[in-house]
Amino acid sequence: MSYLVLARKWRPQTFAEVIGQDHVTLTLRKAVEKGRLAHAYLFTGPRGCGKTTTARLLAKVINCESPVGSEPCNSCASCLAVAEGRHLDVFEIDGASNRGIDEIRDLREKIGYAASRGGSKIYIIDEVHMLTPQAFNALLKTLEEPPSHVYLIFATTEPHKVPATILSRCQRFNFKRLEIGEIVEQLEKICGIEKIEYGKEALMLIARRAEGSMRDAESLLDQCISATEAGIDLDLVRKVLGLVDSQLIVKILRAIGDHDRALALSVVDSVVSGGLDLEKFFLAYIEGIRNLLVLQVEGVDWLDLTSDEIEEMRDICSRFTMEDLLYLFRQASRSFREFKLSSQPRYFLEAAVAEAASWESAVELSALIDRIDSGGAASPGTAAPSRSRPGKGGGSAETGHGEPAPEDRGGGGGKDRASASAAESRSKDGTAYAKIDRSPEPKGEREERPGRAEDAEEWERFLSKIRETKLTLGIWLVSAEYRGVKGNNLLLRFNYQNRFAREMVLEEKNKRYIEAQLEKFYGKKLVIETVETDGGGGDGTREVEAPPPRDDLLEGAPPMVREIAKTFDGELRRKQ
Ligand SMILES: [Zn+2]
Repeated sequence: MSYLVLARKWRPQTFAEVIGQDHVTLTLRKAVEKGRLAHAYLFTGPRGCGKTTTARLLAKVINCESPVGSEPCNSCASCLAVAEGRHLDVFEIDGASNRGIDEIRDLREKIGYAASRGGSKIYIIDEVHMLTPQAFNALLKTLEEPPSHVYLIFATTEPHKVPATILSRCQRFNFKRLEIGEIVEQLEKICGIEKIEYGKEALMLIARRAEGSMRDAESLLDQCISATEAGIDLDLVRKVLGLVDSQLIVKILRAIGDHDRALALSVVDSVVSGGLDLEKFFLAYIEGIRNLLVLQVEGVDWLDLTSDEIEEMRDICSRFTMEDLLYLFRQASRSFREFKLSSQPRYFLEAAVAEAASWESAVELSALIDRIDSGGAASPGTAAPSRSRPGKGGGSAETGHGEPAPEDRGGGGGKDRASASAAESRSKDGTAYAKIDRSPEPKGEREERPGRAEDAEEWERFLSKIRETKLTLGIWLVSAEYRGVKGNNLLLRFNYQNRFAREMVLEEKNKRYIEAQLEKFYGKKLVIETVETDGGGGDGTREVEAPPPRDDLLEGAPPMVREIAKTFDGELRRKQ
């Protein structure tokens, strides 16, 4: 069979054919033209980007009997011998192989001899960073005084592992990872000449999966070609790559967007009964959320999706805000770690999907907290976004005119309702002495709360400052309820559903950063202290850690008032 793998068949035969590395090849060609080649080169860069190919081209042109300008002729005996890997004076040594040290020793012994055809001897050492210290030492002697007919070309993906003594004696060229467009262009060219029908989206997918390596891209194209009699389309590439059917992912994301837990779980069920790999599916699901995130910032070029799928994803995307998606992404990544460790991965996948389908809108939650912190005043800066979402009680942050929040919002939605109605019954009786905090108040009925509101506004300003530099950190912080400063502590309360945000805020590096920013902003050292509310049963909230700060007024209040405040987790304020 005369079939030649594409990567070999399409290996560049001239410098001009090397893709994406003009900054290297142009300099080399100039050196060839002027007869000013160095005796030792180091080619660095990611795998499959053309280092060895370029080294072979250099070997070819150095020994070519009739070079064409700075290019090898590709037809003389020497060029043909290099191309077929049988040139007597061109040696390729694999630094990663065990024979490396023997070959280097051999190199040292024979390097002094003249080349067999009176030309130059060229040593190409691949993965040179893998050589042993002894081999490097042996090389060093040669590098210090290379014979005039000897050229050494080293290639490596990890230049930092090459000893400085070697590095300093080489002329170094950094090859770059290939762009997706560059790879696609080459694949199109190959398909065109090989007369293979293709869809551009299929080639784009191959190019992305090749991660900058032309060799990998060509080998994937090879696999696709041998898997079909017909043309290459997206479905085929997905099958060859073992990718999950995108419709399953679309379906589950749509279910999550609609808070349809039953549907989301039925997708998992079909994955299980279809015998699909659960881990692959989980990863594809995470990638699906990532794709929604990308769509949110309009980065369509980065998606491995057809235009139809992009339309579908856009539709799903409209159900979420950026914060929602970041939350879902983090939640999925965290669940995936648990999934990997579990002996019952299916249950973890189901739990993750069910939890995801119970998401709370991060924006609504933060808007709610804004209103609470600023005493319910819908100031322009903290007004709740008016975005409504189908299938879920959108705008719950704006209820408060007596209408009950929509039922069954899933998850811990019950908690918000509970505290909201608690707030109402309190304000209706008019004798509220103990104010129940963090409950949204009906517009116009709320009490002024001097001091506290300013406090909250300051915190709000601090948050926007943080978000300027560290967006995600800002998002974690926004999901917390600001509880004021007590002594040197700044207190934040996280709903149990936002426990991940809390973990993130408390992560040592993040906490240090926030506290440093706090010091800058408030002009004094503040330590972040957090509590988490347990919203599990919907029966109100329960502190699981240190209690929130209480208004000092409570100290001198009658026992009954203190009892009420304690029961409802409220605090005492002077009536205006
Ligand atoms: Zn030639």
